[in-house]
Amino acid sequence: MTEASGVPTIKFKVDCPYCGGKYDAMKASWCNCLSKDRTLKCPHCEECFCKAPVADRNRFWAGAPPELKERRRLQGLEKTAPFQNPPPETIRRPMVLIVDDDRLLHSIATRIIERLGYGVAVAQDGVEGLALAQQYRPELVLTDAMMPKLDGREMGRLIKNDPDLKNTHVVVITSLYTDSRYKHEALSQFQADEYLSKPIDARQLQDVVKRHVTRQGTAGR
Ligand SMILES: [Zn+2]
Ligand SMILES: [Zn+2]
Repeated sequence: MTEASGVPTIKFKVDCPYCGGKYDAMKASWCNCLSKDRTLKCPHCEECFCKAPVADRNRFWAGAPPELKERRRLQGLEKTAPFQNPPPETIRRPMVLIVDDDRLLHSIATRIIERLGYGVAVAQDGVEGLALAQQYRPELVLTDAMMPKLDGREMGRLIKNDPDLKNTHVVVITSLYTDSRYKHEALSQFQADEYLSKPIDARQLQDVVKRHVTRQGTAGR
């Protein structure tokens, strides 16, 4: 693939750990993983390296030109407009409620879910998540585990114990509680329907939404 516009003069040739192809990281695009620290996509196989071992990622960034490090810093701070929740009466059904305090994640996840043809609303923390779940009655709640005010796992448990929301599926996404012990705890004690480790990429998000939303979306692609 050749990209002519705005080509930087600095090059940072790297080997893709997945397909072995060489590419210039300065020209690569950022991935769409639901992570605060996204990485670059290999132009040959489209794989990013978010799931590479931490030591490998650190080595990559340690060797990166200052310009690329700066771009990494800026994309992490990228100011995205807050997502506006449609009113419950007009929101497209079925719908997904996303509970996370990361605005960048809201912007990526809402776009992906809307493209699947589902409605989507977002909440910033567990308290708001619970209130919006009662208001919107979503088919699926996707929540971060660690959140201010009310832990996402505990919020999920409260949702599951609300008779009005008993059919709502709850999927907990986490970067911290990745140990199988926590996974078991989340599924049993907190009654989560599924437990996913961060980072999750766009394809995984699409899959998890389709798995848990009762009716497949007909709009979009
Ligand atoms: Zn590759
Ligand atoms: Zn990624």
